[in-house]
Amino acid sequence: MLSFAGGVKAELCQERLRKSCCTRAELYGVLLFCNLFTPTHIRITTQCVPFAQRLPRLLRKAFSLSFDVQPEDVNAGGKLKFELTDPTKIAVIMDAYGYARENSLSHHINLAVLEEDCCRAAFLRGAFLAGGSVTDPEKRYHLELVTNHLYVQRELMALLQELGFAPKGITRSANFVTYLKRSEAIADLLTTIGAPLAAMEIMNAKVEKHLRNGVNRWSNCDVANVDKAVDAAQSQIEAIRRIQETVGLDALPDKLRETALFRLENPELSLSQLAQLAQVSKSCMNHRLRKLMEMARPEEEAT
Ligand SMILES: [Zn+2]
Repeated sequence: MLSFAGGVKAELCQERLRKSCCTRAELYGVLLFCNLFTPTHIRITTQCVPFAQRLPRLLRKAFSLSFDVQPEDVNAGGKLKFELTDPTKIAVIMDAYGYARENSLSHHINLAVLEEDCCRAAFLRGAFLAGGSVTDPEKRYHLELVTNHLYVQRELMALLQELGFAPKGITRSANFVTYLKRSEAIADLLTTIGAPLAAMEIMNAKVEKHLRNGVNRWSNCDVANVDKAVDAAQSQIEAIRRIQETVGLDALPDKLRETALFRLENPELSLSQLAQLAQVSKSCMNHRLRKLMEMARPEEEAT
């Protein structure tokens, strides 16, 4: 059975290879997030059949080249391996991405390859196909991109920030991981890189989870306390909506906007759960929510 991440990759592979700028950008993403990318050896391994079908087309369209090693039958399953070992072929690729041959050991993202928006999306798609995964939203919200180049991780995080995301980074053994935790951010990124159906599945899973959580909490907890928490959350959400409709959430300072979004996305959470999620203290969260309520008040009195 296809995993959720496998389904996302299959959807991404339906994106047609159109403009040559994007084809090169996508392959660049693949190379920086694949197993091995050196001046003498390129190796990409995958278990994803649609990606394995796409790779030779990608390389042909981008550089009119073919792999030196590739699986005879991608449908055979298991680990599918693609390799380039011919130094002249690799030199063509390295040159196109602006690598000076003598110092190509520490990779950077060459932003000149990614000047257009279309190319940035294509680059991220390639990165995800080669080094990405996303957890089934029924379990939790987690999308990650893994590279073995330190600077590539740093520059990827800057690129994502520029696109409006708030990625986090960790090092896992010799790999540099960039990840997103918020369901909306994950859905946005998937939509950007060409998997809007998967993005919709994430948002649907979230709605269902909210409904289920609501029910569980009612049956497990002291009803009076839940009542109070639900009332508080309700009026906080109303206040945030009022701000949204009047000045807009973009007018808020960063921290308040973040708090407002957390609350809107998690109406069922208690104050302490919300504080935990936002990684701030309970009193800090309380303070921010009060601030939001205050900001919404003048509007209420005016009507
Ligand atoms: Zn492009």
